Amino acid sequence: MDHLLERLNPQQRDAVLTIDGPLLIIAGAGSGKTGVITTRISYMLSQGIPPESILAMTFTNKAAGEMKERIKELLGGNGGKTAAALTISTFHAFGLAVLRRYGRLLGYRPNFTVYDTGDQVALLKEAARELRIDPEELEIYNLLQLFSGVKTERITWQDERWYAMLNPSSSEKEEKSAGVRGISTFQDLYRSYQEHLITFNAVDFDDLIMQPLTLFREHPKVRGHYADLYRYVLVDEFQDTSTPQYNLLYQIAQEWKNVCVVGDDDQSIYSWRGADYSNIERFEKDFPQVREIKLERNYRSTGGILSAANAVIANNTNRKEKALWTQIDGGNPLELSFPDDDGAEASFIAEKIKLAAYQESLAYDSFGILIRTNSQARVIEEALLEADIPYRMSGGQSFFQRKEIKDIAGYLRIVLNPDDDVSLLRTINTPRRGIGRRTVEALHQIADERKISLYSAITLAVHNEAEHTIGKGPLGALQEYLELIESYQERFSESKHLAATTERLATEVDYWGYLVQEFQKSERAAKAKWKNIGFFIRSIDRYEQNPDVLEPTLQGYLNRISLQTRDELSPEEAAGKVNLMTIHAAKGLEFDVVFLAGVEEGIIPHQRAVEESEGNLEEERRLFYVAITRARQQLYMTSCRRRQVQGEMIEALPSPFIEEIPAELMIKTVADPAAGMEIPEDPFAALKAQFGA
Ligand code: ATP
Ligand code: MG
Repeated sequence: MDHLLERLNPQQRDAVLTIDGPLLIIAGAGSGKTGVITTRISYMLSQGIPPESILAMTFTNKAAGEMKERIKELLGGNGGKTAAALTISTFHAFGLAVLRRYGRLLGYRPNFTVYDTGDQVALLKEAARELRIDPEELEIYNLLQLFSGVKTERITWQDERWYAMLNPSSSEKEEKSAGVRGISTFQDLYRSYQEHLITFNAVDFDDLIMQPLTLFREHPKVRGHYADLYRYVLVDEFQDTSTPQYNLLYQIAQEWKNVCVVGDDDQSIYSWRGADYSNIERFEKDFPQVREIKLERNYRSTGGILSAANAVIANNTNRKEKALWTQIDGGNPLELSFPDDDGAEASFIAEKIKLAAYQESLAYDSFGILIRTNSQARVIEEALLEADIPYRMSGGQSFFQRKEIKDIAGYLRIVLNPDDDVSLLRTINTPRRGIGRRTVEALHQIADERKISLYSAITLAVHNEAEHTIGKGPLGALQEYLELIESYQERFSESKHLAATTERLATEVDYWGYLVQEFQKSERAAKAKWKNIGFFIRSIDRYEQNPDVLEPTLQGYLNRISLQTRDELSPEEAAGKVNLMTIHAAKGLEFDVVFLAGVEEGIIPHQRAVEESEGNLEEERRLFYVAITRARQQLYMTSCRRRQVQGEMIEALPSPFIEEIPAELMIKTVADPAAGMEIPEDPFAALKAQFGA
């Protein structure tokens, strides 16, 4: 196994060879932390440790997949089979696996559905409807955020944020919020939201962590099973674990205490989602025998890029001291330019990529364009399209969250779990089959009264086992809907061809006809959506053909897509495509050339983040640090003079973080890809003083 260890430096080798006992590796960006995890697993396997006894947690499903691939490579030969027996997943995917296996102990039926944000919104609206609260009155997304806080025990009902939602600023709002009478309304809603989840046999994302914890607490045998099984536990991106995730980890790892966590406190960027890097300190307390190893050599970036990153992050307080160095020479200076507006910025980036790809024969996939907020994406996407540059976008709306995909997936979900009201409401009249609002209301009446799902209500109505006011026409349509679902329940359980069966379903419900009707004015739009359906079906096919999937099932596939989060890369082919993504989604990745767009006050640091709490400024600086450290060879930054914000042109100022980069590391260029190192005619005064332009 020497070849595994050959290229490692002494600290990395130490980390790989230390497989027993708790190990903590806190190290800067690009120091080989993720590499240590994969090499360490390969090394353990080479020492005869059974793959079944290894559990590794990563931050995205994509990262988990890549880690498996890498281990296969390192093992060579027939490493594929061994790698397939490893458990490498996200905390959520792991929690889901636990619930699928033991959830019945908590009352879940095995075919339960996982709700994503879109489903949660629909569910909350249902809950509100039942409580006779107009959903329009509610700040749904804020509310879901707070509900999540309650569920994960991050916030209490005394939190001031509840009161903030009760105090509408405008009188118009006051009038509207007549239905919301106090915190108790939110509590009622939360209770109802929870009850609905149970009726629908569904879980939300937080349940995927919280319910396994309940399970472990109430059923020590189940906890014992996992704690016993996983003799070796590893966690990447440890700085971004939340407290419940940490608890889950602790419940498993406390038995054998062979637990290795790697992370970088300077890259903690998910506190808004409950991540808490003080878990690093908790770990040190919980495992007092811990060994700590530092990795200080960066293998990713040029000297210039690394110095800039180090200088920026040094402005944060309360961090673990690190001395990150690189042997890669200084490289080109960082470049900062000032396009007139976001349109100019986008075309500058596109042109620059074209030119660099040509002049330096770089493949398109060696470029990353990083943005702080999703709203920056559209203009850049347009410029890339215009310039004919293939790209893929991630960190925005996931492919699987598009309406057309959710529609067809909704059918698959209802086939699997008919009690899933959210999917039922989505599919019952899409494509139209003459089931209107009044019919649905009548069904609700039956369902609410008996606390059953809508599907059960339909069954009762159709068989005349419940009193109702549904007319003959709609009743016939309901009957057909039931028959459709039942026939596909059969087909999916008989046929091993998930993709072909889904295709048949999409054809049978005439989804294409529906699209044509919906988009009468734009055949192009209809076609684009139909193409997405085709892409969806191909992704099912790819899943079925995947040799790593031992037994492909509809449930297995739906699990996969429901765990795809916003931070995942889209499932498209990555090769030969420029990567456009949020900084959050870029964590852990690296690109030869990075463009950081919108390095402006209000974007990074983000206005809302800074307004919310002072501590957020440091998190924004960590984001900036993460962005810089994604670059291997070259970093371009752009700061627009003006920017379109919600349809309005506003003046923009450069980000204050720019001034934290030592002047000698950076040059300012005009936003003209063809020009060299010229100084713009009118750089900002503050920057002039700072950089002596
Ligand atoms: P991040 O903090 O961004 O997650 P990381 O610490 O996980 O970074 P890796 O992604 O594991 O770092 O490694 C960064 C780069 O350095 C990769 O391209 C990797 O191949 C390379 N690298 C790591 N260790 C070595 C080594 N000993 N010799 C040569 N290259 C190395
Ligand atoms: Mg990493």
